[in-house]
Amino acid sequence: MSRTSIEGPSGARRVSLNGPTMGTRWTAVWFDDGGPDPMAIGQALVRAVGAVDDQMSTWKPDSDLMQLNRAPVGDWMEVPPTLVSVLAAALQIRDASDGAFDIGVGRLVAEWGFGAHAGQVEGLAGARASLDIDALEIDRRGSRVRKRAPMALDLSGIAKGFGVDELARVLDAAGIGAFLVGIDGEMRARGKKPGETPWSVAVERPELERRRIHGVIDLEDCAVATSGDYRHVRDGDGGRISHTIDPRTGRPVANGVASVTVLAPTAMVADATATALMVLGPDDGLSFADRFGAECLFVLRRDDGSFAERASGRFAEAAGDPVENQAFTVSADAVGQKGSDERAAQSPATA
Ligand code: ADP
Ligand code: MG
Repeated sequence: MSRTSIEGPSGARRVSLNGPTMGTRWTAVWFDDGGPDPMAIGQALVRAVGAVDDQMSTWKPDSDLMQLNRAPVGDWMEVPPTLVSVLAAALQIRDASDGAFDIGVGRLVAEWGFGAHAGQVEGLAGARASLDIDALEIDRRGSRVRKRAPMALDLSGIAKGFGVDELARVLDAAGIGAFLVGIDGEMRARGKKPGETPWSVAVERPELERRRIHGVIDLEDCAVATSGDYRHVRDGDGGRISHTIDPRTGRPVANGVASVTVLAPTAMVADATATALMVLGPDDGLSFADRFGAECLFVLRRDDGSFAERASGRFAEAAGDPVENQAFTVSADAVGQKGSDERAAQSPATA
């Protein structure tokens, strides 16, 4: 865990912690005005995010998820309650998105050359390519799950978001009233900074070559997630291959969507929804967003390499708001009251 702290507005000390997790880094920023010891909080953050990784990683052979993947069909397996709740949420989002988000895609992800088991498909040959509705039985009370068919579950499209919610839970429990936490592109904010200024988060422009800001979101009490075709890709015969699989076709998405940013009350929902919208594309995606009161921004790649946008909710209102060459600035507070979604961002812009 590394740490920086500087004197902030009104004398509060800005605490900024980060450390490695899930192949990337977690971050937490807040202002310390004499509350609990920041390093003790930091240790709790490390434990929280480590627990999520230990339960939900496909890179750790002994994670609870990988044990479940190996478990015999038909046997109940006891798993931690947090894993049960993420599995249940994932199944719900699968239904809501008509199968666009599907944690049963593990075999396809490996077949298309992504993730921890890229290319190692021998052991997965019998696994379902997607989850049908009864494939997984969840007993929340008993905190156990049972497979009804062989499957290769992959929580990579939702676990980072859940990890961010766990970071937020630790800071809430410590009585920190204002903070910004994140893992990679998924972020969640609470309250406002001293001086009543909002937490600002930058949304990256979906370019492979360089990192540029596409827009800025001011977050208050909500989360943002971005999925994109521009970072985790590999080159294939016909061009770039996305790591997002359309479970309905069994193939990587190729729908011209460069990135999707989603705002939601929790980072878990924002994360999974962003992945779902990558699959659904702008037309179906925007009607999905509409139905669920989601706020989302699609950045589309035109043939000539330029970008176009399609947006719902506050993103639509903010479109064409040219601030210093950024495509938009959006203020988001307590969004998604109606239901589910949001958009994501990549890095603290001015945190
Ligand atoms: P990122 O934020 O890194 O762009 P996402 O949150 O979109 O990633 O998650 C992508 C990962 O989720 C993939 O690498 C794969 O492991 C898994 N995945 C791919 N397609 C789907 C899908 N349709 N539904 C659920 N998970 C998926
Ligand atoms: Mg996701």
